[in-house]
Order: sequence, then C-alpha cells, then structure tokens
Amino acid sequence: MERIGAHSHIRGLGLDDRLEPRENSQGMVGQGKARKAAGLILKMIQDGRIAGKAILFAGPPSTGKTAIAMGMARQLGADVPFTMIAGSEVFSRSMSKTEALTQAFRRSIGVRIKEETEIIEGEVVEIQIDRSLTGATKTGKLTIKTTDMETIYDLGTKMIDALSKEKVIAGDVVTIDKASGRILKLGRSFARSRDYDAMGADTKFVQCPEGELQKRKELVHTVSLHEIDVINSRTQGFLALFAGDTGEIKPELRNQINTKVGEWREEGKAEIIPGVLFIDEVHMLDIECFAFLNRALENELSPLVIMASNRGKSQIRGTKFASPHGLPVDLLDRVLIVSTRPYTEDDIKQIIQIRCQEEDVTLTENALQVLTSMSSQTTLRYALNLISCGQIIATKRKAEQVDVEDLRRAYSYFMDEKRSVQWLKEQQGNLMF
Ligand code: ATP
Repeated sequence: MERIGAHSHIRGLGLDDRLEPRENSQGMVGQGKARKAAGLILKMIQDGRIAGKAILFAGPPSTGKTAIAMGMARQLGADVPFTMIAGSEVFSRSMSKTEALTQAFRRSIGVRIKEETEIIEGEVVEIQIDRSLTGATKTGKLTIKTTDMETIYDLGTKMIDALSKEKVIAGDVVTIDKASGRILKLGRSFARSRDYDAMGADTKFVQCPEGELQKRKELVHTVSLHEIDVINSRTQGFLALFAGDTGEIKPELRNQINTKVGEWREEGKAEIIPGVLFIDEVHMLDIECFAFLNRALENELSPLVIMASNRGKSQIRGTKFASPHGLPVDLLDRVLIVSTRPYTEDDIKQIIQIRCQEEDVTLTENALQVLTSMSSQTTLRYALNLISCGQIIATKRKAEQVDVEDLRRAYSYFMDEKRSVQWLKEQQGNLMF
C-alpha cells in the first residue's frame, strides 16, 4: 500500500519555458501570479543569485502556500537541499530555539564535494570468480574491453560483491571505482543470454598492457553542512543522523567545519550550494527567533528562507505589539512578499479532480459539484479530506463511485472549522476551561 501525502500530487510549479504558469500542469492549478513569482525565485536560486534572501508567502488558509513551496522543492532537483519546518517546531526542551534554527539553516546548505578516483570502464568480456572461497578471501578476474583492447583485472572482494549483487554479465558496460569497488555506471547488454552464475572457471583471458583502461574520474556527491557537523561531533557520531536526535552541537565545532569547508572551496575540492529553508506558520516564532533570522540572513552561508503565514495583523510572539503577519517590521522590510488568493470554483474543481486521481477515487459528476461547493463554504483542505472518507463510506455500500450521499454522511461525521466553533459556542456552559 502506498501512503499518499497532502502534497504528493505536486510535481513542480507547472510553468512553461518562459516561466508562464500553465493552466493545469504538474499537479498545479490556478494561483498563477504566485507560481510565476516562485518560478522567478527558482531561476535566481539556480543562477546562484539569491542566497541570504527571504520570501514570505502570505494568504488565507488552504490557498496553496505550502503546495507552491513543495513545487519549488520538486523542481530544484535532488542536489539542492530543501528543508521544511513549522515555526512551532523550534520550541523544545531538548534544544534551544536558536540551536534548532541553526540546525535548520545548516541542513539547507549543501556542500558538493568533488573526489578524484581511478576507474575502470568498458564492456565486460568475461568475469571469472573463484567460488570455492568465501568472504574476504574471494578472488576473481574481470576482462574488460574498450574499442579494441582487452584488459584483465584482479578483482577485490568489494568489487566481486558489487558485480555479484548487480548480476553483471558479459556484454554489460560498466564503470567501476577501483578503490572502493563501487559500480558507478552500469549499462545492460541487450543480449543477456549468458548467465553470469553459469560462467565456468576455465575462461580464457587476453592479457593487455596494464593500466591502459584505467582513468581518473571526478566523483561528486552532496551533503549538507548539518550532516558534516553531526558526523564530526564526537558526542553524536554519524548514527545520530539516523536517530534524528542530534542534540546541540558546539559552536567551536561549527567554526572548525566552516574553516575546513572554506579550505576545500579554495582548493577546488568543494562547492557550496545554498538551498532552501521553508518555515511554515512563521508567525509561531517569537521575537528572539526573528532577531536570529535577521542576523542569520546576513551570513555568507545562508540559504534562501521561504516563510509562510496565513495571519493578518497579529501579535509578535514575545512582545505586546501587533504587526502584519506577526512579523517584526525590520524583518518584513527585507522579505519579498508573495500573496496567495482564494481559488475560483473552477480551480477548486480541478484540484479536487487531481486529488481524486492521486487517491484513486472516482466521484460521480454530482458528487464533484457538491464537493466543490462544500469547499467554497468551508476550506479546500476540508473538502480534500472528505475524498478518502467518502470513499470508505462508498466502499461499505459496495459502490465503486463516491456519490453525493457518501459525501453528506462524511460531512455529518466530521466538522469543519466554522461548525466546530459554532458547536463550541453552543456548548459553552458544558465544557471545562
Ligand atoms: P495553511 O495556511 O492552512 O497552511 P496553505 O496555504 O499552506 O494553507 P496548502 O496546504 O498548500 O495551503 O493547500 C491545501 C491543499 O490543497 C493541499 O493538499 C495542497 O496540495 C492543495 N493545493 C493547494 N493549492 C493548490 C494548487 N494551486 N494546485 C494543486 N493543489 C493545491
């Protein structure tokens, strides 16, 4: 069974080459201006021109602020770090607010590390492995050829394991890192007629001048600054990366790492990739966090910070003052604000249809109409939540399509925010405070 997330239908921003929003593309519908603005920001990130800047998506609930941020993340590609936190997450007893924010910042900065390695590449002619021995003593030979040469390599255990795991056979085209034995690239032969396992031990090899096919190649991999911090933190160790509980990291260690990464950059061994930190419900941060953000954005190693808020004028946490979106004016002054607006009925209808496809649910035409108008009266998110509830109710009556009656029943079981507030008012005297 595949779990379906609230934004799993979003595959990008749905823009064309000129960054114009397509009407319905990559799971995205409507909100054209905000999507275009997000596209422009993406372009600036990709050109490396927007580190240390901040964007605020401001708009009513369920108007796609998070969806657009997710679209940006999907479009950035795997190499550019994208971190998502909610404002409320920074308040915990195990870690100070500023440490939590620092970690989020450093998770959003990638370090692209370049490594030189010796590789073997070419088409596999024969593989011969002595199977009578096991484990570390496994031995073998690999014959590889490029255009006209053939070379024999003695195989190390690691390489034997890698070749066995991938079931490499004659005819495949491989690129292997000599030192680690890792297969870097594997092109399958079209005629996989010869079974690798069936290959005998008496294969004949043609010996070629040693080293002809060995090359030096640049290997590139990207890690985040936070990962480097954790791996080098003596108290934590790399296992903490899996546990997720990294605790506080000493500032001295971070300084050392910054210096080291700086050296790698100068030597041409590493490149910094500023990624994106998305802070949802940013109004939940308090004045100390905002002061931290203001300062952190000035840092040379700062990612692009995208914030989202659905609040109008509200109190800045930790103060008595109110300001737009609950953000102090000095921070507001440095952010680019992108607003999202309520959807039209047609947009809502299309989003519901996309979600139905994603969740593999079929609505009758009437049910689609009813759900669209329910969404206008409640919120888009509430309406989207009713899709799967309606599906379960429909399945119980052995129907293949969700009909109006199923939605009505789901609507009666689950309250939306307005009805819940109304109910609370009516129950005022009976509830505990
Ligand atoms: P909030 O202020 O309450 O956090 P939000 O503005 O972040 O709300 P989302 O969570 O992005 O709203 O949107 C609610 C749901 O609608 C999500 O499932 C989202 O993927 C979907 N959605 C919103 N806008 C679009 C859109 N333009 N195209 C497709 N799906 C969308």
